[in-house]
Amino acid sequence: MNSPAYPRLGLYIGGEWLDARARPGKDVIDPAVGTPIAEVPFATEQDLHRAVDSAVSAYPIWRATSAHKRSQILRGAAQLMRERIERIAGTLTQEQGKPIAESRMEIALSADIVDWYAEEGMRLYGRIVPSRTLGTSYRVVQEPVGPVAAFTPWNVPAVTPCRKIGGALAAGCTLVIKAAEETPGACVEIVKAFEDAGLPKGVLNLVFGTPHDISAQLIADPAIRKVSFTGSTAVGKHLAKLAADGLKRLTMELGGHAPVLVFNDCDVEKAASMCVAAKFRNAGQVCVSPTRFYVHTSIFDRFVGAFTQRAGAIKTGNGLDPETQMGPLANGRRVDAMRSLLDSARQEGGTVMTGGAARGEAGYFFQPTVVTDLADSARLMTEEPFGPIAGFARFDSLDEVIHRANSLPYGLASYAFTESLRTANAISEGLEVGMLGVNTFAISVPETPFGGVKDSGYGYEGGIEGLDAYTVKKLVAQA
Ligand code: NAD
Repeated sequence: MNSPAYPRLGLYIGGEWLDARARPGKDVIDPAVGTPIAEVPFATEQDLHRAVDSAVSAYPIWRATSAHKRSQILRGAAQLMRERIERIAGTLTQEQGKPIAESRMEIALSADIVDWYAEEGMRLYGRIVPSRTLGTSYRVVQEPVGPVAAFTPWNVPAVTPCRKIGGALAAGCTLVIKAAEETPGACVEIVKAFEDAGLPKGVLNLVFGTPHDISAQLIADPAIRKVSFTGSTAVGKHLAKLAADGLKRLTMELGGHAPVLVFNDCDVEKAASMCVAAKFRNAGQVCVSPTRFYVHTSIFDRFVGAFTQRAGAIKTGNGLDPETQMGPLANGRRVDAMRSLLDSARQEGGTVMTGGAARGEAGYFFQPTVVTDLADSARLMTEEPFGPIAGFARFDSLDEVIHRANSLPYGLASYAFTESLRTANAISEGLEVGMLGVNTFAISVPETPFGGVKDSGYGYEGGIEGLDAYTVKKLVAQA
């Protein structure tokens, strides 16, 4: 198992990679071993001013570039990502921990997202509204919103930047993106793909630094017209307050605590197998991870048994090892959070069916864990775990389980397993969520909207909605 090369990190501002040695930052840690692999440089206040100035200067040029030409550049970047998939996937696994096969899938999806925006940007139609007055026309045109500030997290360090970069660039916006300092390499590689595809200087700028300081400076800058953030609900609320002063448009993709409703008419073995694969993907560190499992009383023991047996058999290890099915958690904070959730679960009367402990001497490993017998008010059933712990509870009736699923402030994803059309319809009407998967976990594809309701945020990425998010509408009435 050879470690792939890790890229040289830098800030990309005005079409130049700035000297990292002059800008001390912090170590990037390989979570599988717990040791540094690189140092990410931090932007100075001046750097951030330059980044915004670059995005502002490039804006009229990029906006005036034809949709067709913009599309060609985006497609070129997507193609380069595919050609470089082994290198970028290796980088992603080294800095984030997920198994190499998951990293490859993430890069392939990132390229598909950019391709989809490249195409959809050529279809950013306006409309002509029939006039009440002869000789007067009413046209609605869509225009780019302006320079964007984007903030992306460490759990999906390629897809989240590509959703924001793809949507913004296809709409004709320029942007300054602050990718996660813990996983900077994947975004550096993505920005290089855009650079090598011929993106004009200044259109896309990449910075790193202390998140609190960078967001405060960028969001307060009057030149920034739109803010897009993916991360926790707490940070999202903080950024929304900062953006309120300048009435900036916002896309907020925040936390979730996705319920899974397992009805007694489903194929128990098949559903359990699908649930295990989805739950422990990226060690549970996905905002749409299934986390609260409500299982009908009549199949509870059978379903939990099948789930537990499969969860206990998951092979954990270094993500670069092709045999590994689940890697380490991305950082030590997640391991501490899992320990704390497990302590609470035990105190609250939970039964640990499998797992329940950190693993190994080095790295941030935690066992795939299953907990049952918890009340709905238990911490694990109310607080987003963002890690490899699944909580199980029983239910008896459809109305009751819909009510319990809706009882948290979150409303991002939810899932159900049933063969009944009537049940599927009732769930799709009753659940307060942005995305629902019935007998599937495939809810995130480039051409469909991705976003939540309630404390899970507002706005969408993906789909035509993800492109609209970077546009404003202008009415032109002409006599
Ligand atoms: P955190 O809340 O401090 O940070 C979450 C993300 O926001 C990180 O990427 C961080 O760099 C960024 N961030 C933090 N403060 C910021 C600021 N002032 N301005 C701009 N960006 C800022 O917690 P964490 O320990 O990094 O992550 C733990 C929690 O975050 C998880 O429990 C999960 O709920 C949430 N999270 C959600 C997503 C998602 O996809 N929605 C992704 C990562 C983390």
